[in-house]
Amino acid sequence: MDYFSGRISALIEQLSQLPGIGPKSAQRLAFYIVSQPEEKVKRLADSLLDARRNLHYCRECCTLTDSEICPICANPKRDKRTIMVVETPRDLAAYEKTGKYTGVYHVLHGAISPMLGIGPDDIRLKELMRRLEGDVKEVIIATNSSLEGETTAMYISKLIKPAGVKVTRIASGVPVGGDLENIDEITLLRALEGRTEL
Ligand code: ZN
Repeated sequence: MDYFSGRISALIEQLSQLPGIGPKSAQRLAFYIVSQPEEKVKRLADSLLDARRNLHYCRECCTLTDSEICPICANPKRDKRTIMVVETPRDLAAYEKTGKYTGVYHVLHGAISPMLGIGPDDIRLKELMRRLEGDVKEVIIATNSSLEGETTAMYISKLIKPAGVKVTRIASGVPVGGDLENIDEITLLRALEGRTEL
């Protein structure tokens, strides 16, 4: 049964496809959006399109950036020989917020999940392996402690070890299944400091 007109239903349908937005939130957002002045809605629509068109992966670390190289990789003060591997740009942001990590990152954009049919070729692993051909001292694996995150950590460690690069895993102080971005900075720092060699 359709209670709403086709246009509002279509908007609700689009919004409910966003992560974390259920049908009720989608309805609330849809009615809020159509109640706003057209100019304001246009700014929202424009910034969605602008972000999508102009953001791309950093040539080095694969995080999202609007320049060819992201500000972290472009910073000469960062230690390029230490690479922290994270699942998403949000995880990178969580570690950056601590202000204590001086190495660089590698963003995988996902994790290996046989259940969801996501294999090693579906995440940015080849790009990581290419970086290891350079001068790298340590790879810190900071994927989430979910099943997918652990599977990915194990896979990467097996892949890298023959190259003779030190591989460490952040400490398990990070709660199982916990999303890195929801964990406070002190826990993150402890996890980083307590990392163990794989
Ligand atoms: Zn970068």
